[in-house]
Amino acid sequence: MSAVSTLKVGTDALSGTVIPAPAMATLAVAGTAARFPVGRVFCIGRNYRWHTGEPRPAEMPGWFMKPSNAVVPAGGRLRYPPATQDFCHEVELVVALHQGGSDIDPAQVLMHHVWGYAVGLDMTRRDLQQQAKRTGGPWEPAKAFDHSAPCTPLVPAAACRHARRGAIWLAVNGAERQRADVADMLWPVPELVAMLSRSVALLPGDLIYTGTPAGVGPLQPGDTVTGGVEGVGEFSMTVERGPVGAAATPSPTHSEGVSP
Ligand code: MN
Repeated sequence: MSAVSTLKVGTDALSGTVIPAPAMATLAVAGTAARFPVGRVFCIGRNYRWHTGEPRPAEMPGWFMKPSNAVVPAGGRLRYPPATQDFCHEVELVVALHQGGSDIDPAQVLMHHVWGYAVGLDMTRRDLQQQAKRTGGPWEPAKAFDHSAPCTPLVPAAACRHARRGAIWLAVNGAERQRADVADMLWPVPELVAMLSRSVALLPGDLIYTGTPAGVGPLQPGDTVTGGVEGVGEFSMTVERGPVGAAATPSPTHSEGVSP
């Protein structure tokens, strides 16, 4: 008789799993009590011109991922993470999918796949990213840390006309650092969704952070970060140093309205 056949394990009464199932990450839906369930978080690399007259590269941008629990409300406190001396902001338009698929036709994306839009921050430990680029190491330490993807409430696509144009900006202590128009994306949303779907099967609940304009830079504890996308949302957060090594804990606003 194998040891496994006599093994007894307890299960959580509610979830039936051997440890209580973690709450699913969710995003607020603007102006409602409804929540959007967050699946995976895809992030697009360079997708705006950072220099005037720069030609569009022939190659589509690269992509990477963050865990779903990196998504926290873009409001209140922005935790300065451990293990970095160079904590950088990247403001981005965020796309939320309600229909997935493989080999998606770009012409179908806005009509059939995009549920809504939000404003997100692809927070980056830049020193760790430079190190990863130097050594050929993975980007997760630079990009996929706790609270690294603050996001405003989602706006349904119809309510913001698919965010085809509109200013995107970010300021630190009132001084503007990033400004562009989402119409300036090198690869627009339909192309990005189609590109990802040729590489992985996209799923309902997936978020896509669509790349940041020029002007990324470091934040310090005490800084106030504001920004937004015209017609989609705005945010204001204050950078605070958290206890080093502490596990992520959902902020009270993040868990509001989560059903078990
Ligand atoms: Mn980014």
